[in-house]
Amino acid sequence: MAPSVDDSSNPQMGYAEFITSGGWVDHAIVPWPFRTNIKNVGQGFLHRIPYCFVDKRSYENLEEQKCLLKQGIKLWSDVIGAPGRDTGHSLAFRQPESPTDYCCKNYRYGLEYEPLDEDNDLQCDWNDKYPKDALAIHWADEVKAGGFAAKAFIGYLEEGRSTSRIAGRHYMHITDYADAATVAHELGHVLGLVHEHQRWDRDDFIEFRCHNLYGMQHTVDAMMADTAAMGRPVTEAEAWDMLCNSEQTAYYYGAPTAALIKGAGLDVHGQPALDGPGDLDLDSIMMYPSYFGAIPPYEPESSVTLDTAVMVKIKKDENGNKIPLSGEDWRIPRGGDCIPQRR
Ligand SMILES: [Zn+2]
Repeated sequence: MAPSVDDSSNPQMGYAEFITSGGWVDHAIVPWPFRTNIKNVGQGFLHRIPYCFVDKRSYENLEEQKCLLKQGIKLWSDVIGAPGRDTGHSLAFRQPESPTDYCCKNYRYGLEYEPLDEDNDLQCDWNDKYPKDALAIHWADEVKAGGFAAKAFIGYLEEGRSTSRIAGRHYMHITDYADAATVAHELGHVLGLVHEHQRWDRDDFIEFRCHNLYGMQHTVDAMMADTAAMGRPVTEAEAWDMLCNSEQTAYYYGAPTAALIKGAGLDVHGQPALDGPGDLDLDSIMMYPSYFGAIPPYEPESSVTLDTAVMVKIKKDENGNKIPLSGEDWRIPRGGDCIPQRR
């Protein structure tokens, strides 16, 4: 998921990475397979990721008018270079031979500006020109996208592990609020990267201020009402605590905290299960900026202050207390570029 306000910054090389560190959303997630062409899976030397647009509207809104996919892919290739021995990676996105050959026949979007109904919305009869594991690109309105500018499935799910949809199980939903950097962030998810700010060690570098999240009171109220109706009411303080710290609870109630809570605990060796190499990279494209979630989308990011920001850069004093960086240094910028994933 990517925040829906604009900014840009410099290329950086950090990431919280899921595939090699294991455990988070689903243990079934693996790297994209090698393939010599879109259907020849398991052969060759490139992890080719074929993608297609689900319908005419998706193609026209996202690619014909804005070239969002091409630009997002270019942001990556500008930083990581072409696949090969020199660059140490073997990733390649594969655009459709004809972009107007859509992933879907008879695509059913569902009701516009209504929350996503997983079982009935965004459904299609798969076009067998494409392998069933191709990345399906959907245009979505911002309500269907859950208030995010865009969102995507993380990593690769093998066919036998898919519990519901097989064709179209790898997807990206992109709204009119997305730009090329948003798409690059989502492509990071497609490759298996998770949010930098969800690393286990993030509290050494940033402070997550859950109470500043715009719209959270609504979710807190909903959880209190829901638990009361089930006969096991939680207090307001308990609801805040669970929604701010339990990923499972956040997902269950559709809270915006789901994209902000630390994503994985420690593995059997006592090591963080989620973190990539090195320290947290505050300039990563997989990092949310300070203004994320602090204000409604139509307000300028500069209106966010140290008092209202959701995430701020910190240092720790000798007693381990978190102190925000001074001046404007507490602000986490939006990452505008990206990151190698070596394999
Ligand atoms: Zn994201």
